[in-house]
Amino acid sequence: MVSPVCCAGCEAADVGVCPECRVALRPSLQRVRAGPVSVLVALDYGGVIAHVLGAVKERGRTDALGVLAGSFGVALEVASSASSVIVTVPSTRAAVRRRGFRPVEELVRRSGAGLAPVRGGLVLVRDVADQAGLGVEERRANLSGALRASARLAGRRVLIVDDVLTTGATLLEARRALVAVGARVEGAVCLAYTRRRDGRGEAQVTQRRPAGS
Ligand SMILES: [Zn+2]
Repeated sequence: MVSPVCCAGCEAADVGVCPECRVALRPSLQRVRAGPVSVLVALDYGGVIAHVLGAVKERGRTDALGVLAGSFGVALEVASSASSVIVTVPSTRAAVRRRGFRPVEELVRRSGAGLAPVRGGLVLVRDVADQAGLGVEERRANLSGALRASARLAGRRVLIVDDVLTTGATLLEARRALVAVGARVEGAVCLAYTRRRDGRGEAQVTQRRPAGS
């Protein structure tokens, strides 16, 4: 079997992720606010990161997931504490069927941070549309009441984990569901943060740390 490999970021030949793209995927931690939720983000979404994440999620390039997971692990280690548990934002059933795996859980598993998400911590209680292409208000409406948190999280300190932060609508719905069962949301960790072109309703960057600090 011959499977031609090219860089998941730039399509350079014969390499899973080329050295230049690996540099672009080094963590550059930022604090972003999504309403009341303080989010630690590992990477700025765009260019190489968008390509690699798209290749992993939509083109089955799970070989490139490890590079992203390494950067994610840095953010997870900074944000998590011994007294908190992590919950991942669930993928839709349609997405899991299409991809054959759950990207967020896989990122956590391969992050090297040694953290295990609470099983069934957050579940989708109804179908939601793909958020891509939806505006701020549409995203909010699409997700409103879509998540339910496990009652086992009552009184626990929780860190919400997701892959891409855009408007923050997903994190706000996750927070609502967690607060509803009496969990204490300490914040969130996302792999990448994408700025909306129109600048409306975006989460706000509050602090940036240079890579390696
Ligand atoms: Zn490349």
